[in-house]
Amino acid sequence: MASESGLSIDVHVAPMRPFVGAASEGAGDQPLWSPMSSSLIAGAEEAVLVDTLITFDQVDVLADWAESHGKRITAVLITHGHSDHWIGLGRLLERFPDARGLATGKVLDRARFEATDAGLQKYWHTCFPGEIPDSPALPGLLEDGTFELDGHELQIIDVGQGDTEHSSLVYAPSIGAVVAGDVVYNQVHMMTAETDGASRAAWVASLDAIAALNPTTVVSGHKRVGAPDSPETIEQSQQYLRDFSRIVDEQETVEDIVATMLELHGDRDNPRVLWYGARQAVAKRS
Ligand SMILES: [Zn+2]
Repeated sequence: MASESGLSIDVHVAPMRPFVGAASEGAGDQPLWSPMSSSLIAGAEEAVLVDTLITFDQVDVLADWAESHGKRITAVLITHGHSDHWIGLGRLLERFPDARGLATGKVLDRARFEATDAGLQKYWHTCFPGEIPDSPALPGLLEDGTFELDGHELQIIDVGQGDTEHSSLVYAPSIGAVVAGDVVYNQVHMMTAETDGASRAAWVASLDAIAALNPTTVVSGHKRVGAPDSPETIEQSQQYLRDFSRIVDEQETVEDIVATMLELHGDRDNPRVLWYGARQAVAKRS
């Protein structure tokens, strides 16, 4: 969508796809990776991308899509350190040599951890064998939380808890757009596995902080293909988290947590994520 301010935002979504994961333990618990977005924020001549997608194929499709906008890509901004949002950076930068990968310090710390921790490296290569780089390129450090795009300011805000502890978002004030990474989810089950009741409450507060920006466009890191980038997704994400915390307290088993959540939120993509979150929640009780 274009704007009088001269900035515009366009969103590419890689559809849900299989990965190599543990066998299903119940209905909907198939190893599928949630649909993922990458956003292009463009001025008259220049543009930035936000987040990279995962596999070589996904990144190549993203690069073709970005190139078709005819702008000079100057940066790839990374919202958080989970590898699915930045592991494609090296391949993407081969296509856009003028661009720099950039992340805030806390996001960079997590990305570096994912790139060097043996267990996590094994996890990602097991999920996507032959489809991701052996030595992924890390983003550089974004010093002051702002980025200038064709004379317009973008703010990169460390918002805190999302589906991981240190999450940031990209805010384009002149067009009221927030690219929210995995703080907001849109019609996709939310990844709660790294959280407990307290951190989910902090996550709800992060969503309040996004709402306080009064955005008209909110792009989720994981969104169903074709879902509108509506600010209503903020409240919907809060409701999901509150329901999950309550149901984890009320229900005994993983199966009962999943079944009760699906009664309320069964229209979201990828119940595998809910199964995983429910298993983690039950495991944390003991
Ligand atoms: Zn993610």
